[in-house]
Amino acid sequence: MFKIGIGPSSSHTLGPWRAAQSFCAKLSRNGLLQSVRSVRVLLYGSLAKTGRGHGTDIAVQLGLCGEDPVHFAVDQIDARMRDIAQMKEIVLGGVHEVAFDPREDIEFLMTESLPFHPNALSFLATMQQGDDFSETYYSVGGGFVVQEGESLGGKQAVQLPFPVDKSSDLLHWCMKTGMAISEVVLENEHSWRPEAETREGLLKIWEVMRDCIYRGCHSSGILPGGLQVKRRAAELNNRLTEGRPYTNYEAWIAAIRMGGADFRYIIDWVSCFALAVNEENASFGRVVTAPTNGAAGVIPAVLHYYICFCDGKDPDRIIQFLLTAAEIGSIFKKGATISAAMGGCQAEIGVSSAMAAAALTECLGGTQKQALMAAEIAMEHHLGLTCDPIGGLVQVPCIERNTMGAIKAITASQLALQSTPDFAKVSLDAVIKTMWETAQDMSHKYKETADGGLAMHIPLSLSEC
Ligand code: SF4
Repeated sequence: MFKIGIGPSSSHTLGPWRAAQSFCAKLSRNGLLQSVRSVRVLLYGSLAKTGRGHGTDIAVQLGLCGEDPVHFAVDQIDARMRDIAQMKEIVLGGVHEVAFDPREDIEFLMTESLPFHPNALSFLATMQQGDDFSETYYSVGGGFVVQEGESLGGKQAVQLPFPVDKSSDLLHWCMKTGMAISEVVLENEHSWRPEAETREGLLKIWEVMRDCIYRGCHSSGILPGGLQVKRRAAELNNRLTEGRPYTNYEAWIAAIRMGGADFRYIIDWVSCFALAVNEENASFGRVVTAPTNGAAGVIPAVLHYYICFCDGKDPDRIIQFLLTAAEIGSIFKKGATISAAMGGCQAEIGVSSAMAAAALTECLGGTQKQALMAAEIAMEHHLGLTCDPIGGLVQVPCIERNTMGAIKAITASQLALQSTPDFAKVSLDAVIKTMWETAQDMSHKYKETADGGLAMHIPLSLSEC
């Protein structure tokens, strides 16, 4: 669920980047890389319609170069793109130069779509000798990629001690063992790697989220893409801290805690954290998919709220939060979707809000049933939320929408903590099923195509008046 990468979109940036890396790796494994003469990339469906705004063209070029989204220096992106465009060459897999003109060799097929999934892309390699080589991939949301012929669920070779497909399975294991949700997840994760590695990985993920919040709260200016959106997190941070400069994260967070617990003060900070992450995301900054890039601000904002205002400084609590959140996201992925191209924004902001709500509830001492109830409440009030990014950019409504997802998660958690889940009328599984049916009924205009909603009414470079 949590992948370190580069903004602005997990399905349109990180997924295509990973697909391009996989294509190069396959060429290499088959001993074909050095024989490639030129490469073309075809983008279909939603990747074609909103790919420019989401940086899909940039992502595939960096992936073809063999660069890794976890480590690639984000301040090098513009220079690398300029080099490729000027030289009309790309160094495939970082080792073999081939002819490549991005203007001609990346095709945005606006009217074509492949039946398996709306986010499809094909790579075609022309060889010096012999048959050409091609592969098709699908970016299915959250940075996950499947190759043509694979199932959406991917491969599940590992036998888990507590297999979970639905929230009822998760509750069953919790009731049977008495373990918290995070403990069940940690046991399952142990099937893949030692516990210490899981803990270390989760703290690394939090470190990237935390740095992203801090950077976003201290960066001003206009977001790229032509919509002329002004960054707001830094201004809000400045107002809340009354203009006092803090030279490092620790000093800054101590000052935030000292500011008190007034309702509006806390809400302003939660909004500020979410805005910060998503402004970084919109600027091609380093973020963590949670479960996607467009919704990357909700979970860090709620976790940072927990750390700042609920005494959640202990690293074990941060691990607990992320484990619980990840399991809820995984249940949504299995039972519905985390791809806006399949389910609209309910699949992004709605899912991230549900993940955060459950995690916060467990960390605040709620029962397993209350945590699942919180996830249910958070999603119930995102059902039907459409995806209509203006200009295909992950900026409006996306950035503000993360603040809404975070606030709803905190409210849902609080409501669940004050409720008796045995009296709840709607289960988490029922709301996931409803979300999936709503996704199937939703017009394609509202599934990351920028063909409907706000995207039709607000032109690029012009503000609404
Ligand atoms: S509207 Fe929602 S789903 Fe669509 S790009 Fe923005 S955040 Fe993602």
